[in-house]
Amino acid sequence: MTTHNASPATRPAPAGRASGAAEHARPLGLRFIVAVTNEPWQDHDAARTAERWATLCAEHGDPGLGAAVTHGPALHDAVAEIRALFSETAPHAAARTLNAALAAAGCPPELVQLPDGRWATRPSLPNDAPAATVYGTLAAAALADWFAERGRPAWGRCAAARCDQVFLDEGRRAPQRFCSPSCATRTRVAAHRLSTAG
Ligand SMILES: [Zn+2]
Repeated sequence: MTTHNASPATRPAPAGRASGAAEHARPLGLRFIVAVTNEPWQDHDAARTAERWATLCAEHGDPGLGAAVTHGPALHDAVAEIRALFSETAPHAAARTLNAALAAAGCPPELVQLPDGRWATRPSLPNDAPAATVYGTLAAAALADWFAERGRPAWGRCAAARCDQVFLDEGRRAPQRFCSPSCATRTRVAAHRLSTAG
């Protein structure tokens, strides 16, 4: 299991923030998108892919979507597309990509009541939508909302060696470069070793 919680999940939210990590812990929100994007799908066979998809949907609050069809290359392709988007931090380029994805999905927002009773808007998905469509559509909508809320494409891919995890940048100051405190520390220690070597 390589589920990798990014640092913002454990960082206490600064006072006075109405939204942020807690808000986006909602079912199939941004946390779900990050988890699916970071899942090593290429290492899974068909059975394991279906099992992991179902588990991620259940862990992120919507077990019903866990039954969506996962076979074929579509899910891999959708993950590759969203992974590429996490590398795009130029606002206009990211907006163009997201707008194209939203238009292609053609799923207008609808109100849904979440299992905990709250209401949220999210893209209307056909009942028989395969996992790739569910993920791609929810990712475009959630990332567009997050972009608008933060005023920039506040996300990235980890800068640490041998780590390719994507993350949401919930920082208030300098842009976040690492997916987790452990990757930041590992990189700092390696740089220090290098600078003091010899
Ligand atoms: Zn990392």
